[in-house]
Amino acid sequence: MVRVRIAPSPTGIPHIGNTRTALFNFLFAKHNKGKFVLRIEDTDQKRIVKGAKEAIVEILEWLGMDVDEMHIQSERLDEYKKYAKVLVESDLAFEEEGAIWMKMPKGKIFSWQDKIGNKKISFKSDVLEDFVILKSDGFPTYHLANVVDDHLMNISHIIRGDEWISSTPKHILLYESFGWKLPLFAHLPVILGPDKTKLSKRHGAKSVLDYRSEGYLKEALINFMALLGWGPSANKELMDISEMISLFDLSDVNSASPIFDIKKLDWMNGEYIRRTQNSKLKTQIWEYLGKKYPIQIIEKTIPLARDRIKKLSDYLPLCEFFFKEPNKYEIDLSQKKDMLRHVLNTLKGLRNWKGVVLGEKMQKLASSLKIRNSEFFMMLRVAITGKKISPPLNESMEILGKEKVLERIKNAMPL
Ligand code: GLU
Repeated sequence: MVRVRIAPSPTGIPHIGNTRTALFNFLFAKHNKGKFVLRIEDTDQKRIVKGAKEAIVEILEWLGMDVDEMHIQSERLDEYKKYAKVLVESDLAFEEEGAIWMKMPKGKIFSWQDKIGNKKISFKSDVLEDFVILKSDGFPTYHLANVVDDHLMNISHIIRGDEWISSTPKHILLYESFGWKLPLFAHLPVILGPDKTKLSKRHGAKSVLDYRSEGYLKEALINFMALLGWGPSANKELMDISEMISLFDLSDVNSASPIFDIKKLDWMNGEYIRRTQNSKLKTQIWEYLGKKYPIQIIEKTIPLARDRIKKLSDYLPLCEFFFKEPNKYEIDLSQKKDMLRHVLNTLKGLRNWKGVVLGEKMQKLASSLKIRNSEFFMMLRVAITGKKISPPLNESMEILGKEKVLERIKNAMPL
């Protein structure tokens, strides 16, 4: 039975790279019909950051990566003490200055076949030193708690970032000392920024929750994270979660570092927005905007907006005029009174308030006034929306409705 775990230390809000590790564990578990375990490794009490644990849980929930079990190490201290004692009693560990230390034997080689790139990794014990497994405050160190729990929780595969490779020989020593079977290890290559240095804040290594508030869709984020180092042989790019689950295989994880490219995420997000059903997108936008704008109007504007936005946050700057009168005009309309009066007179009597009809009427008017089409529609657009760029004007006027359009034109006419 495949059982994997993510074991975050609540020492900060995880950034997108940490969440990608969680995603690989999740995909692997689901592909193999196994279990996905969350274990909060909060044994370094001094480094705990308030709210970090809650953020970890919120990220997993939002992304729909449901955990099968959740464990908290600080609630399991007795286990670690018990096992530290076993090691002292068998003379494999010793007590000094208040702490319990694991003895590093000489002349040994620790090695394992890593599932990423299927390569053998070895360490000579001679270059390693004795290490603390239980601190004087009664809390275990990462090494002891991690190994004891992975064993007791029957973890079959350890899929984690490659910054933990140097800890693995210590873990192997512990497994061997207890006489426990080793799990399989898969160390994921570290993600790099476009400048090939370790991914950091300035490259966009924010938390998934930050991306959510910037208007990214979870579907796009999941797809983007999955492709940070993984790619099914079929070389597919856009995949939904069920397709990723069915294709996921550790042997397709690249052993070279993936490069984080925010432009790709933006592109993907736009693609996902275009593929989302209208009814779902309207709710996503409505919720994203704090449920403050009427959902019926949002719904009508979706066909006009969807190809013009890459993120949910692009919606309001483009469509705010549907909800609010313009409070300034991007072009000075003070010389356009005549034109606007003609528009007003033409539209007043119009009963069939449809985009196509409006378009025809306005075009006719423009030619009878001998104003270039582009110029005419630009002025009208600014009068109605306040902006030089908007969704298609005729359809926007249809959605706004006759009364509002007439009122806006009047308001745009200089006194
Ligand atoms: N607590 C470690 C972390 O914060 C866990 C590493 C591991 O997966 O073994 O990432």
